[in-house]
Amino acid sequence: MTTSNPRRIVPPSGMGLYVHVPFCKTKCPYCDFNTYQGIEDLIEPFLLALTSEIKRWGDTLAHPAVKSIFFGGGTPSYLPKGDIEKILASIQASYQVAPNAEITIEANPGDLDGAACAGILAQGVNRLSIGVQSLDNYLLNLLGRRHQASEAVEAFKFARQAGFDNVNLDLMYGLPNQSLDQWRRTLDSLIELAPEHISLYALGIEEGTPMHRWLEDGKIPEPDSDLAADMYQYARESLAAAGYHHYEISNWSVRGRPCEHNVVYWENGPYLGVGPGAHSRLGDFRFWTVLSPRDYNIKASGWAAANVQPIDELVEAALENIPTLAGWEHLSLETTCSETMFLGLRLLDGLNTSQASSLAGIDLAKKFQAPIQECLELGLLEQDGDCLKLTESSYLIANQAFTRFLG
Ligand code: SF4
Repeated sequence: MTTSNPRRIVPPSGMGLYVHVPFCKTKCPYCDFNTYQGIEDLIEPFLLALTSEIKRWGDTLAHPAVKSIFFGGGTPSYLPKGDIEKILASIQASYQVAPNAEITIEANPGDLDGAACAGILAQGVNRLSIGVQSLDNYLLNLLGRRHQASEAVEAFKFARQAGFDNVNLDLMYGLPNQSLDQWRRTLDSLIELAPEHISLYALGIEEGTPMHRWLEDGKIPEPDSDLAADMYQYARESLAAAGYHHYEISNWSVRGRPCEHNVVYWENGPYLGVGPGAHSRLGDFRFWTVLSPRDYNIKASGWAAANVQPIDELVEAALENIPTLAGWEHLSLETTCSETMFLGLRLLDGLNTSQASSLAGIDLAKKFQAPIQECLELGLLEQDGDCLKLTESSYLIANQAFTRFLG
């Protein structure tokens, strides 16, 4: 079926652009991301495929505005020197990148020395997100990370010396055999470094990962959710005392330095994902790219021959013809409204239902009157005028609120 869609699919304010880099030097035992070790022979063709996909999307979307770029993975910092610059040049050539666009790269501490940090900054990246994960060498080893705690601290210092003034540090908690004292020491040391942004993730042990097998074989203990909750509470208190703003369930920043790219997701805004397995949400459509880096490299080069009309004119026909896509779905108004609610409520300053309603084109407070009332009565949400937000006691059980907004 083909429908015409006369409105532009990317608003003038721009979209987020996510670039997936599917390479890691080693695969961590808990990781279920679309990333691989031992396929370095695919890096060079990947660069060609990726820059080709970037250009084709730029043409197809009529050179849209971009307000944030995020290199994730995988380990973008594992790419050979100069590759990020080439990718950014291809983006600049085919999109209107805002002069103040946030450009983030995820990096492993082991990849960052003084020269690497200076090189990344010189390539046009202005935000660094370092995967510290822990400052305890036993836990880093258990997580299969390639770095030692001291290297993570050094990496941060190199970033500062190079001139990065917007740095995120990622930590994980709720780890097997992790004590509250270990967590306190790690977090206190991290706060002393004074990064602009801190992300804290509870370890999830996903089926199919080596860590899941260790759990089944009794080699590691079951995660202790009560202890993880205590760790989260300690983090909330100590980060607040250090002046960090808790702006999203898992994210803290100094004022004015949230991750703008992730805010696009939480505000249910438009974003394009390029690279293997990347997801996009543009207009009323969600679509995703083939997972396999090898297939991706082949299919991206096939796009040169594919006839894809500008996507804002014949959206579904265009999506059918894009060779790198593995699938797409049309988002109903129902889905869009639900997602606007539960994504927006992740932002702890709250969801302004009037603003969100005018973007969604429907009165969300009226549409979700019953679940909102239920959440208010259960103490999961609180209301202040048009603003609806999670109560502090519901941050760790936010899914109990979110599921009530699903159709
Ligand atoms: S470095 Fe990150 S992306 Fe790569 S395997 Fe480890 S957790 Fe996964």
